[in-house]
Amino acid sequence: MFTLTPVRRAVLCAVADAFVPAINDLPAGSAVLDFELVARAIQAQPLGAQAEFEQLLDLLDKPVLGLSWLGPLRPFAQLAPAQREALLLSWAGSRLPPLRKAFQTLRKLCTFFYYGSSPADGGPNPAWAALGYPGPALPPDSGPPVAAPRPIRPLAPQAATTYDCEVLVIGSGAGGGVMAGELARAGHDVLVHEKGPYFHGRDFTQREANMLG
Ligand SMILES: Cc1cc2nc3c(=O)[nH]c(=O)nc-3n(C[C@H](O)[C@H](O)[C@H](O)COP(=O)(O)OP(=O)(O)OC[C@H]3O[C@@H](n4cnc5c(N)ncnc54)[C@H](O)[C@@H]3O)c2cc1C
Repeated sequence: MFTLTPVRRAVLCAVADAFVPAINDLPAGSAVLDFELVARAIQAQPLGAQAEFEQLLDLLDKPVLGLSWLGPLRPFAQLAPAQREALLLSWAGSRLPPLRKAFQTLRKLCTFFYYGSSPADGGPNPAWAALGYPGPALPPDSGPPVAAPRPIRPLAPQAATTYDCEVLVIGSGAGGGVMAGELARAGHDVLVHEKGPYFHGRDFTQREANMLG
């Protein structure tokens, strides 16, 4: 299981600040990232991926890191900001797939948790106003009202069962859900087959990073 040790956390802080440096009034990445959420997201990955990520963070903390981009033999956090950027850019365009993969993993992780996180106090993420995003419509303390009425009664047959329908929609996601709703509204007899659990809109807090699990 992935462990976010203080050393790994310090590495992630330096990486986050390289991807999202402080600019104008906006704080740097490490000031916004919720490291508990980040750790939980990594712990939800397959064990092999967790081990790979640990190895990556541990490599970033070693002087031998310099060999990966022919730079100074120093850990990532001890590089100057321009050197950190040069290292990451060299990985992004590397001919070695593991380095390109490492770059993309770190980029996605840092930018998703920077722009998708809500601060612990429930206030707006400082980047949202700069992006023109007004933030979630739900107040921060409303939480998911799990007791809200759920209009759909999913069928969960325990044995081989035959259903009749005019249209069978596989998957109730963004595409299938809309299609099923429109067809049903037009008077068709629609059956939706969904492999996942039933989530009502009210199960979501509109806070993207918190909804990852
Ligand atoms: C973290 C994240 C953030 C995103 N943010 C945005 C955003 O802000 N704006 C935006 O426009 N897009 C966003 N997207 C992309 C958007 O969610 C997808 O483009 C969209 O959901 C794709 O719709 P879909 O119907 O093809 O698939 P999905 O919405 O993924 O739906 C597929 C459904 O089919 C079910 N299913 C799959 N296989 C089977 C099977 N064999 N039997 C039965 N059911 C099955 C799945 O359980 C799922 O419910 C985001 C995606 C992610 C992952």
